[in-house]
Amino acid sequence: MHDTRAWARQWLQTPRNLYIDGGWRSASGARTLATVDPADQSTLTTYGVANEVDVEAAAAAARRASRAGDWPRMARRDRGKLLQRIAAVIRDHADELATLESLDNGKLLRESVEDDLPESADVFDYYAGWVDKHYGETCPVGHGFINYTVHEPVGACGLIVPWNFPLLMACWKLAMALACGNTVVIKPSEHTPLSLSRLFELLDERVALPPGVVNLVLGDGETGAAIARSPRLDKVAFTGSTRTGRAVLAGAAASNLKRVSLELGGKSPNILFADLPDRDAAVARVYAALFSHKGEKCSEPTRLLVQRPLYDNVVAELAAMAEAAVCGHPFAPTSQQGPQCHRAHFESVMRYVELGRAEGRLVAGGVADTRGENANGLFVRPTIFADVDNSARVAQEEIFGPVLVITPFEDEDEAVRLANETSYGLAAGLYTADVSRAHRVASRLDAGMVFVNRYGCYDFASPFGGFKQSGHGKELGRHSLAEFTRTKSIWIAL
Ligand code: NAD
Ligand code: MG
Repeated sequence: MHDTRAWARQWLQTPRNLYIDGGWRSASGARTLATVDPADQSTLTTYGVANEVDVEAAAAAARRASRAGDWPRMARRDRGKLLQRIAAVIRDHADELATLESLDNGKLLRESVEDDLPESADVFDYYAGWVDKHYGETCPVGHGFINYTVHEPVGACGLIVPWNFPLLMACWKLAMALACGNTVVIKPSEHTPLSLSRLFELLDERVALPPGVVNLVLGDGETGAAIARSPRLDKVAFTGSTRTGRAVLAGAAASNLKRVSLELGGKSPNILFADLPDRDAAVARVYAALFSHKGEKCSEPTRLLVQRPLYDNVVAELAAMAEAAVCGHPFAPTSQQGPQCHRAHFESVMRYVELGRAEGRLVAGGVADTRGENANGLFVRPTIFADVDNSARVAQEEIFGPVLVITPFEDEDEAVRLANETSYGLAAGLYTADVSRAHRVASRLDAGMVFVNRYGCYDFASPFGGFKQSGHGKELGRHSLAEFTRTKSIWIAL
């Protein structure tokens, strides 16, 4: 393996650009943005922001490739082979992509290498297998007619992704959209444009996609809003905050009523019943599920509901784990938690930490970590508040950082009521050895994903997505194929 950090320093010398219609070009406007390394707040690189003119150029290229190009008409097997080729290229360059991810986002290199990169590659292989398996049906209509359905690509799709899993969220969406024969305009978060920019270089150099099939625009909300409003895009698939999701929906409504799918925020409950099967494993998992990737995960279990007999011990054990955790540089092997992704987010997390001191009982953390080499970084000590009322702001609002709130409960009805008292509905967990209770509670929880006895299970075969204000539409599995196709009903009079 070559010296990847030296390679990255070199790579960062070149300004990043937009990739439109099979070629690189600079943004047409004058606005620029910088992305920083949250471990020391140094600038990694700057780039021009794509404005509406650039987005429309990208959307026009995607539309041309979708309406007149080879891609939707290509033999499905060939399209599948191109997706497998993308998977192979990501694997070949996984060390570079993981390094850029950790530099830009602040997650541990170990997390990028073990979590983000393998999944980013594998999802293309998974969807390569679906290219010829999503097809229509013959419907039993009245005598004298044949009626059948076909699933067509939606067309040109805008894909907008957040900064917490920058490459992985992009790859999920790219794989699903491309497998169904769509073309795309994709925008990474303004805070983490690097890994996707590198992937586009690799696609340009090493994967023979027809021009206009994949287009990359860099920028912030200005660019994202132009995607949502674009009259040339047929769909927008968005992952990000609930507030921005509303804006995307409004943008689509105000323009061409393009289809919208939303993967939004969460405030997921995790319920520990006193009869849980393996208490130590559960507590270790509660900690890891929340504090890995520095708590910047939409489906993380941020509200822990603990049945009274367990309550004091569980609080004490989690507090001890949090106090022992080592915040440090993402590339240092001793680090257990990296810095928050960007300054405004760090400040928002710290405001919630202050609020929590008033709303709950602080049992761990509660401060930024500025020790030694962390002095210039955006590190937050893993923070736990106990005895938090479920109506408190820290129990209701998404913090999206290393902050856990714990609330006691007496019985099953109370646990379910507390779990469901939230505007979100992304995920929920419960731990119990009672199989009847497991099924009963799982069915009563108002969440798109329910994890029993192991919080946070993921597989490409299983649908990912939330209820209520956590969004609508499913990603992954065969379920996402409906999101990226449109169904046509065809009648033949005999
Ligand atoms: P965000 O909403 O601030 O930004 C998401 C993306 O939208 C970024 O690319 C951003 O540039 C863009 N954007 C900003 N303003 C826009 C506008 N007006 N119109 C269109 N696009 C706009 O979210 P974030 O801070 O990047 O990410 C954190 C959020 O993402 C959290 O709420 C988290 O829960 C959510 N998230 C959800 C999932 C999921 O699958 N449900 C997964 C990961 C993250
Ligand atoms: Mg950054």
